[in-house]
Amino acid sequence: KEEKIRESEKLSMVGQLAAGIAHEIRNPLTCLRGFVQVILNEDSEKKTRYKVMLAEIDRINEIVSELLVLAKPATENFGFGSVSCMLDHVVTLLEAHAKLYNVEIKKYFEADLPLIKCHSSLKQVFINMTKNAIESMPDGGELRIEVKKLIKSISINFVDNGCGIPGEVLQKIGQPFFTTKESGTGLGIMVSKGIIQNHNGIFDIRSTVGKGTTIEIILPAI
Ligand code: ADP
Ligand code: MG
Repeated sequence: KEEKIRESEKLSMVGQLAAGIAHEIRNPLTCLRGFVQVILNEDSEKKTRYKVMLAEIDRINEIVSELLVLAKPATENFGFGSVSCMLDHVVTLLEAHAKLYNVEIKKYFEADLPLIKCHSSLKQVFINMTKNAIESMPDGGELRIEVKKLIKSISINFVDNGCGIPGEVLQKIGQPFFTTKESGTGLGIMVSKGIIQNHNGIFDIRSTVGKGTTIEIILPAI
């Protein structure tokens, strides 16, 4: 139990630090991007180099965006939200990404789900989980998103039949910048765990190599 508390303190410290740094990086980055874009439009010989610079700037920007999600809970209020509405939105958002991987997304939402007290950052968690599931099935497959009522909470399951996660990888998941992907940021799970913690929820990963992975998120209902 003590270790859980220490982990949660560490997470919120990482969050505050990340948010501070992210804000500081954003401004110079925007300036740099603008200048590179201008040069790219003018000069023809050095174009490839400037294109690489632009791509790298965009990558830093992506990392900063993920870190910034952690900052939101401090500045924005919680409201009442419908998990099924948020998930509908996320699925629509990622339909093209799923098609690209030949992944079919199926929704199983129980009727009369209670609302939950939530923050807009929760959508980012659903986006991260859906993306990870899709990316674990490069040869296609199925992602089931199930939402069930529990006694005083709701349970959301992202069930994929993708590559699964070996034990030694499972240990490292959620550590900042840990990724097994060529162009991953390794921040999705860390950020998502932090957001679920801010919602007083539970985040659980179960996985079997070769069979697939289930991410379960339990959130208190109102
Ligand atoms: P990223 O997606 O940028 O790599 P994440 O924090 O979202 O960063 O995920 C970290 C790692 O966890 C991934 O690189 C991948 O190895 C593993 N992972 C996460 N979700 C799944 C999943 N559904 N199936 C298999 N592996 C997963
Ligand atoms: Mg990810």
